[in-house]
Amino acid sequence: MKSIPYGKQNITDEDIQAVVDVLKSDFLTQGPKIKEFEERFADYIGSRYAVAVANGTAALHLSTMALGVRPGQKVITTPITFAASANCVRYAGGEVVFADIDPETYLLDINKVEEILRNDKDVVGIIPVDFAGRSVNLEAYRTLADKFGCWILEDACHAPGGYFTDSKEIKQNCGNGEFAELAIFSFHPVKHIAAGEGGMITTNDEALYKKLLLLRTHGITKDADLMQENHGGWYYEMQVLGFNYRLTDFQAALGNSQLKRAGDGLNRRREIARLYNSAFSGKPFIKGQSGVVEGHGYHLYIIEVEDRKGLYEYLRKHNIFTQVHYIPNHLQPYYREQGWKQGDFPNAEKYYQNCLSIPMYPTLSVEEQKFVIKSIYGFYA
Ligand SMILES: *Cc1c(COP(=O)(O)O)cnc(C)c1O
Repeated sequence: MKSIPYGKQNITDEDIQAVVDVLKSDFLTQGPKIKEFEERFADYIGSRYAVAVANGTAALHLSTMALGVRPGQKVITTPITFAASANCVRYAGGEVVFADIDPETYLLDINKVEEILRNDKDVVGIIPVDFAGRSVNLEAYRTLADKFGCWILEDACHAPGGYFTDSKEIKQNCGNGEFAELAIFSFHPVKHIAAGEGGMITTNDEALYKKLLLLRTHGITKDADLMQENHGGWYYEMQVLGFNYRLTDFQAALGNSQLKRAGDGLNRRREIARLYNSAFSGKPFIKGQSGVVEGHGYHLYIIEVEDRKGLYEYLRKHNIFTQVHYIPNHLQPYYREQGWKQGDFPNAEKYYQNCLSIPMYPTLSVEEQKFVIKSIYGFYA
């Protein structure tokens, strides 16, 4: 049997053709495909605006810049996420404050966040993560953030198409801008929509949207309405300190083509999750992320097991390549240097001892999935 990874992109002939078409056109960097990708993505997610950027990390960086994070300010996030969710605060000179996870949902624990907000007036923002694809209850976070005058930057990299149901029984898509100021996505190949590299920021806030457009391209504008002077056709103004975080047009074409299949891919992910759920329910050696399948974006399917390393090695021998998401960020040498230590977040640390991400991607066949399940049973038999 061929090897089975934990996640995998799926590139079709149609995807390839879309890229080739752009390579033969007049635009390589930002051109018409960017605008199309932004509009279609905003439509898929349900936000008013979308800004395409070079990758998810650039999306996070531009977001903390647009939100005006500066030295002395603190921002809360979870230790169980990709490092970039925290690092973006540091890029802007702010301080990261970690808070523990809920041991059942693996999401940032809102009660722990509230405790911090009550005691620390320097906190200006919260970065909750729709971890593994499971949506954070952003309505609850909005209420809390408003009480303490904070903004919310939703890291929705794992959850395009995921949603939660709010108190009015309305389905709220991850990243739709209803409750958070900004949300970000990534188009890294292991994510739902692959563009090689790529990222997107979504928002319903026009002022933030305009700031992001400026920051994406060096802080430079050629828009006559925005410029303070105008010396002629060649003239442009650099109004703020920005970056070159543009996405190329051929990546946007790939993203567009992939986006057409995003809904189908998500349905397939949920199907795979249902089969895992039923195979593992009642099995004493496995604990899963609790809660409903409905609304889950299933970037990852995570189990908690005894002897995780043993299972990881055993599966490798059977050509099944699992992964661990994530090593708690507060225990990374960089963050230890800032004073964080073992014992700070018992739930996150215990989760890290046992967690394993098993194969989850739309092209995983039923036969392959059954082999994964059988192999896990085999290890614990
Ligand atoms: C992938 C990911 C990022 C970073 O995205 P890149 O495109 O790889 O820079 C940020 N946050 C989370 C939760 C991610 O999974």
